[in-house]
Amino acid sequence: MRKNYLLTPGPTPLPPKVCEALARPIIHHRTPQFQAVLKEVYAGLKHVFQTDNDVFILASSGTGAMEAAVANLFSPGDTVLIVEGGKFGERWTEICRAYNINTEIINVEWGKAVSHLEIEKRLKANIAIKGVFATLCETSTGVVNDIKAIGSLVKNTSALLIVDAISGLGAIDLKTDDWSCDVVVSGSQKGLMLPPGLGFISVSAKAWVFAENSRNPRYYFSLKAAKKAYDKNDTAFTPAINLIIALDEVLKIIKQDGLEKIFLRHRRLADATRRAMKALGLELFAPTASSDVVTAVKVPQGLDGEKLVKSMRDLYGVTIAGGQSELKGKIFRIAHMGYIDEFDIITGISCLEKALTNLGYKFELGRGVKAAEEAFLK
Ligand SMILES: *Cc1c(COP(=O)(O)O)cnc(C)c1O
Repeated sequence: MRKNYLLTPGPTPLPPKVCEALARPIIHHRTPQFQAVLKEVYAGLKHVFQTDNDVFILASSGTGAMEAAVANLFSPGDTVLIVEGGKFGERWTEICRAYNINTEIINVEWGKAVSHLEIEKRLKANIAIKGVFATLCETSTGVVNDIKAIGSLVKNTSALLIVDAISGLGAIDLKTDDWSCDVVVSGSQKGLMLPPGLGFISVSAKAWVFAENSRNPRYYFSLKAAKKAYDKNDTAFTPAINLIIALDEVLKIIKQDGLEKIFLRHRRLADATRRAMKALGLELFAPTASSDVVTAVKVPQGLDGEKLVKSMRDLYGVTIAGGQSELKGKIFRIAHMGYIDEFDIITGISCLEKALTNLGYKFELGRGVKAAEEAFLK
């Protein structure tokens, strides 16, 4: 017998209610039954996005919503500014280039947050910039960016602010309207505690003007088509019916718990995880801008980071994430996002201690677990 624990930054574990909803017999989507679910879900998404803008549901992973943003808002030859501080910032660049959009890049050292002053400088230096692409939580490095500060300066320009909140939404604060985020994209398998398969995108009035003027081809990801269906409480194509029914359950859980309490829980989980890592003599990868959804930790010198992650999973059933691209083998990442509580974190730390011991890393066994327990007792 073996139990499995999932502590990765997507997918994240599913609450029992969600599993139960996913196991229900399928219903048809053009029915009053499904329309009632859709109505609740559309309202619930606005609550989680903290917006009065429409939030559309796409049958895609989060990247589909990212592509929808690029395809609908800009045209070939437009210039946009992209914050690149990790793998997901780079994805914005790759998508924009695929659509022949000129990209200006802010290269942020991996593990650091972007300075909004740098964005301000670049916007002033080139008034042709039509959009700023940023990432709420750069999952590849564990960094959280100050979207509020970025929003407060982009709103005074003619450019749009487009935020990748795929990891973070529903777990850490993102005030779409108050922070002037024109477009926010997300996905189902992170803070929203669902399997992968849904993409989300919110669109401001300012962004709709861009959508009207875009000369890009689009079909499946057309926001105009999505809006037309949305206004009739419908979806443009066959929706991912069971995922949306499960989303309805998630949104009820979120409503019941309350966003502020959920954010606080994530803060506590992150704080305990960070304290435990320090107690083990490990160094955080993003100490100055640590996100509350995933903690990135440097693999100690001389240890094989990939072996560490693999042994936790294969010997003990605890799945965490390693590093991506240039960070492969150099960091590991423990997620504390979604349906995770303090005992999941303690299990993860305990397992990490065992795996580190097996690899010959010297420390006092139990120090990490103790630090986490002390943090939780506060
Ligand atoms: C997971 C993630 C993505 C990619 O989402 P997919 O659902 O895999 O397409 C993009 N951006 C961030 C910040 C992520 O964490």
